[in-house]
Amino acid sequence: MDTIDVYAHYANEGDYPDLDYLSAERHLSAALRCRTVWAGEKTDLSQFAALHGLIRGAYPNLMEHATFELVGQSVLLTLLGTDSSLEPAMLIAHQDVVPVVAGTEGQWERDPFSGKIDDEWIWGRGALDIKDMLVAELEAVEHLLARGERPRRGVILAFGEDEEVDSRGATALAALLAERGVHAAFLLDEGTTTMADGAAWGAPGCVISDVCLSQKGYANVRLTARGQGGHSSNPFGGTSLERLCRAVARLCDAKPAPQLTDVMRQTFKALAPAITAEPLSSLCADVDANAGAIASLCASRRELFPFVCTTVAPNVLEGSSAAANVMPADVSCTVNFRLLPGVTAEGVLRLAREAVGDPEVEVELLHATPAGRQDSPEGMGYAELREAIGHFHPGVVVVPSMVCGGTDSVRYEGVCRSILRFCPARPAPSEEAWGVHGVNERISRRTFRQSIRLLVRLLEKTVL
Ligand SMILES: [Zn+2]
Repeated sequence: MDTIDVYAHYANEGDYPDLDYLSAERHLSAALRCRTVWAGEKTDLSQFAALHGLIRGAYPNLMEHATFELVGQSVLLTLLGTDSSLEPAMLIAHQDVVPVVAGTEGQWERDPFSGKIDDEWIWGRGALDIKDMLVAELEAVEHLLARGERPRRGVILAFGEDEEVDSRGATALAALLAERGVHAAFLLDEGTTTMADGAAWGAPGCVISDVCLSQKGYANVRLTARGQGGHSSNPFGGTSLERLCRAVARLCDAKPAPQLTDVMRQTFKALAPAITAEPLSSLCADVDANAGAIASLCASRRELFPFVCTTVAPNVLEGSSAAANVMPADVSCTVNFRLLPGVTAEGVLRLAREAVGDPEVEVELLHATPAGRQDSPEGMGYAELREAIGHFHPGVVVVPSMVCGGTDSVRYEGVCRSILRFCPARPAPSEEAWGVHGVNERISRRTFRQSIRLLVRLLEKTVL
């Protein structure tokens, strides 16, 4: 059960009575009916075309005043501001959704691509990740234009095609913007989805909404030990699997020390007045002086550990023998690292090679995404977003934080000043836990409506 009643933190739901909420819900429903699962060359492009058709058909004011472009299947909408000296605001989201996990189809109470709207919910894969945000962004801009506003600051909407796979779409959109010399004042992308219980952070009774100013990086490193195989009656010198396991164990033992990065220092500084649990409360009286102790404490708690550690997770083992009496030939283990800001893939590769320390175990980097830049809560858009969250979700403590997974936004660092990762929808924690990449993904109509209001207010404060 949820420890937080999110609706107890909803307010001002009567704002913008002229907004056409029913049509917004129908647009989200139609977007959810598009099966925009990215699958490389096997992608069903007709599903993306359907979503593009929806966008072009549903937002007449936006289509009149903005330019609509496709880069591959990624969408770029550019609305110029009336004051060309102002840098635009960017609102982004991704069009793609993860597939329904094979074998879980029967657990869905509604067809995952039905877009079913009932009294309370809008159902479907992508309802929380992240077509809700994509549609809410379109609705918010359309609403401003429909009521006759002409923003002083331009607005760019950018919707990548493959965030759940490899973010090539966002990379291409960012390259195009850079080529055109476009530079945004701030960018809003998805981040954490829900309200969090402050207890894990030493602030029991406190409800937190975080605006993430950085994100962790990602690196897959493969360790390979070669072997000849053969009869297991004489494993003299050890099997390849034994060599590999020892190497993996040394790597895990050598994992980098916990560290309180700049962005996490900001988290604890912002939260300090609400932290009552010891020893965190005393330590947070001077976060910088006690950074090492705070990092060590966080590293010992499951909920906080990813925020202070470059994590090391050996996940894939390949090549083991199929029979207990046969030694394996070549075996490998793929280790997934999640990098704290400031830690590079090259750095963890070096660390892995040193820790393994065995010339007969190959260590190679397979794939990496850099960690995000650490932006400041003083940066453009943060104060306005915090104000909007406070207006619609009173009593919630807004803190800067970091996304421990990945988002498209890291691709745009070269073309914007400040990146804010925050999902405007605030569903119940349990809905987020089941639905995102899980089963029965759905958003309450009340939550979706509130997310549109929040974006309208943010735009009023930043672009009008
Ligand atoms: Zn997402």
